[in-house]
Amino acid sequence: MQEIEALAAGLKSFATWNTTATLQECRECCGGKGYMSENRIEVLKNDTDVFTTFEGDNTVLMQLVAKSRLTEFKQEFGNMNVLTILNYVADQAKTTITEKNPIITRNTDENICSIQNFI
Ligand SMILES: Cc1cc2nc3c(=O)[nH]c(=O)nc-3n(C[C@H](O)[C@H](O)[C@H](O)COP(=O)(O)OP(=O)(O)OC[C@H]3O[C@@H](n4cnc5c(N)ncnc54)[C@H](O)[C@@H]3O)c2cc1C
Repeated sequence: MQEIEALAAGLKSFATWNTTATLQECRECCGGKGYMSENRIEVLKNDTDVFTTFEGDNTVLMQLVAKSRLTEFKQEFGNMNVLTILNYVADQAKTTITEKNPIITRNTDENICSIQNFI
């Protein structure tokens, strides 16, 4: 339940902040014409701006997400001894370095794989 709650909180915050930022970007891209009523940007902004506050203020929801993640990490690490933690950190470092390698990243990209299959 806690995981679902955190997921919903994170998705709600991300989606509503993204909506607000996207509409602002659209308005600015249209310059002064972004204010013209036929573009409907102002109407959409008026309708959606409040989403960042009601049904849970986004900042407060993100605190819930952070708390949930930290609790999960605590549970995960709580059962580990020093050696297991070191192994875990080494694995994380290895994954991060691997992901930064453009050749490996390119080969595992879904689109590249499907192109390779096609060829
Ligand atoms: C149009 C509209 C309809 C609504 N409908 C309903 C409804 O039907 N039922 C209902 O129960 N409520 C409803 N509300 C209330 C809504 O849920 C609250 O407005 C919302 O939870 C934010 O609370 P607040 O207004 O007290 O703001 P505050 O909590 O005072 O927030 C003000 C600022 O403080 C920040 N802040 C608050 N707490 C923290 C914290 N712990 N750490 C860091 N920053 C913090 C926030 O991020 C925000 O920037 C509605 C609100 C609006 C605007």
